[in-house]
Amino acid sequence: MKYHNTLDAVTYFQTAAENSALYYQGFALAELRLIAELARRRGAGQKDSTFYVVSDCDETLLDNSAYNSWLIETGRDFHDLSWSEWCQRREAVATPGSLEFAKFVVEHGAGLMYVSSRFEADREATADNLRTLGFPLQNASPDPQVTALFLSGMVIDGTPSKKGAQFAYLAQRFGAAPMIHLGDNLSDHDANRYGSKVPAPERLARAQQDDHRWGSDWIVFPNSIYGTWRNTLSAADEAPPAPFQEGPVRPSAAEAPKMALLRRWKP
Ligand SMILES: [Mg+2]
Repeated sequence: MKYHNTLDAVTYFQTAAENSALYYQGFALAELRLIAELARRRGAGQKDSTFYVVSDCDETLLDNSAYNSWLIETGRDFHDLSWSEWCQRREAVATPGSLEFAKFVVEHGAGLMYVSSRFEADREATADNLRTLGFPLQNASPDPQVTALFLSGMVIDGTPSKKGAQFAYLAQRFGAAPMIHLGDNLSDHDANRYGSKVPAPERLARAQQDDHRWGSDWIVFPNSIYGTWRNTLSAADEAPPAPFQEGPVRPSAAEAPKMALLRRWKP
């Protein structure tokens, strides 16, 4: 994600009623799909212990846009260190409808697996943040056999893992594919098929090939601010400033009224 030119994107994310409505819509659709899939699997005699949902966290269940406003305000680009510091503060808020959806999943007897690209080092802070907001999360240990929280770099079978390996592990652990996948980035649905090594035009072509899955077992949320879509533009996108330094561009005086509308992290 590049820094200052995300001002309109963050403004949309935080202030547009449309953004909020799209989240509610996504979770409403996910609930319908869940009910239908529960009925189908029970009708087919599958055991309840195989029923689970996989959800991404950031910009799916959690809203971190105050961190992005802070990046704009201070002319910074995204950096792992400042991101981790933000995660440690436990200040993410719930996206519209996410909390109700998470409770709905658990109340209907399915497991909810939180699969996030947050770092393993931020496990305790992430679990605290989710629980304080009211998300059901009984086991957040780093043990992949029992935990409901999968993070980037957590060790599975002796190896640090990411989403692709974690999805495969979960299919084995539950003995079935998840009932639905939720995410704001298509790599939340298939980590390899939509990974950052796949150029933007190819991702677009694949999204068309997968048209039968969107709104079915793959539920997508809008993230205008960042994502693999942006990373795959590479050469076409602007060069970033020095990663953890203040960048050359900060919001101008003309943009101050828009900045004033935004929720911002105050570290
Ligand atoms: Mg996300």
